[in-house]
Amino acid sequence: MATETDAVWYKRLHWQIAIAMLAGVAAGAIGGEELADRVGWLGTLFVRLLKMIIVPLVFTSIISGVASVGGGRNLGRLFGKTLGYYVSTSAVAILLGLLVVNLIRPGEGANIGGVSASEIPELATPSSISQLFIDMVPLNVIDAASKPDMLAVIFFCILFGMAIAGLPERPRATLTGFFESAFAAMMALTSGIIRVAPIGVFGLIVRVVGTSGFASFRALGLYMLTIALALTLHLFVALPLFLWFVGRIDPRVHFRNMLEPLTMAFSTASSAATLPVTLRTVENKVGVSNRVSSFVLPMGATINMDGTALYECAGVLFIAQVLGADLSASQQLIVVATALLASIGAAAVPSAGLVIIFLVLESVNLRGPEVDVIVGAMLAIDRPLDMYRTAVNVFSDSCGAAIIARSEGEAGVDSA
Ligand code: ASP
Repeated sequence: MATETDAVWYKRLHWQIAIAMLAGVAAGAIGGEELADRVGWLGTLFVRLLKMIIVPLVFTSIISGVASVGGGRNLGRLFGKTLGYYVSTSAVAILLGLLVVNLIRPGEGANIGGVSASEIPELATPSSISQLFIDMVPLNVIDAASKPDMLAVIFFCILFGMAIAGLPERPRATLTGFFESAFAAMMALTSGIIRVAPIGVFGLIVRVVGTSGFASFRALGLYMLTIALALTLHLFVALPLFLWFVGRIDPRVHFRNMLEPLTMAFSTASSAATLPVTLRTVENKVGVSNRVSSFVLPMGATINMDGTALYECAGVLFIAQVLGADLSASQQLIVVATALLASIGAAAVPSAGLVIIFLVLESVNLRGPEVDVIVGAMLAIDRPLDMYRTAVNVFSDSCGAAIIARSEGEAGVDSA
């Protein structure tokens, strides 16, 4: 079985996952849809295993994390730092998207009429920004957990953790001990599931390559390259600069430590499904305390989505370019602000970013059948972009956890 400390490279899990990805690309390209049908279920099974533990993991990690931070000033400080980090990195990501799309202008002269609109998946999308805040408060916690509606679950867990922190010594120790032990058990379960990751990743990649092929990617090639370029700049330039200047952390070490969650985010295209792996890696390899990681990461997976935020902004500008609708500077500013909020509201599941783009389009009055056709075409080729922006989303969360842990005086974070 693969472990993290094996000396031989091919026994290390992240290498096994990388090899599984390459094998999946080759097998999917050769075997096509037939093979995708045959082995795709392995990927489905793996994602189900990961999803199975998300809700109990989030419950136990946030409650134990918040309870150990305590209420009052400590929690307020951690909360302030976390939100400050989320908003600043997402804003940088959006501005990068804005810049790159305005420079390359991939939508100008693009002919997308020929691509037929595919079905847009039905995902719960808040109808407005105020609704986003209202929905954050669950009417029924069990119902929120069963959907799962992560923002509502997180909201409840934070309050519950704070309530525990305020209890007298005895019940506080009992409850904190209980949730800490339950969290440790969930992490052990996560470690077990991750052992089969290479098989699951192989199934997922075969399905992506085998079913979508490469033909549909040609029509929107420049658009894809533009988004990929902006995401690359954020992942390899902006976030490393944050790590270096704000956290005094060597980005190369952080990248090396984060290989597993990055490959997992890439193959599942879901920050939520990746969360168990992110939590485990950030604690075990990056070396962030449970107190910080269990606060920053579940919330980050749900609301801090740099890749998605960048995509919302760049995607809307692209649509405007295709339609020949020149957006003024103030309209672009509206897009920037709405993209930030939309990325907070986007669910951490595949294609969520594309679905929520309608919210941003509405903010500048872009709607109608032509818009639907373009979004349909974008959906047809969304998967690779989704994989990439999910990896960016997850990496930003882990950078946040590392930077905040350093600022809290944790010296062992990302020590080479
Ligand atoms: N798939 C992304 C995630 O889970 C969300 C998106 O579609 O942008 O992080």
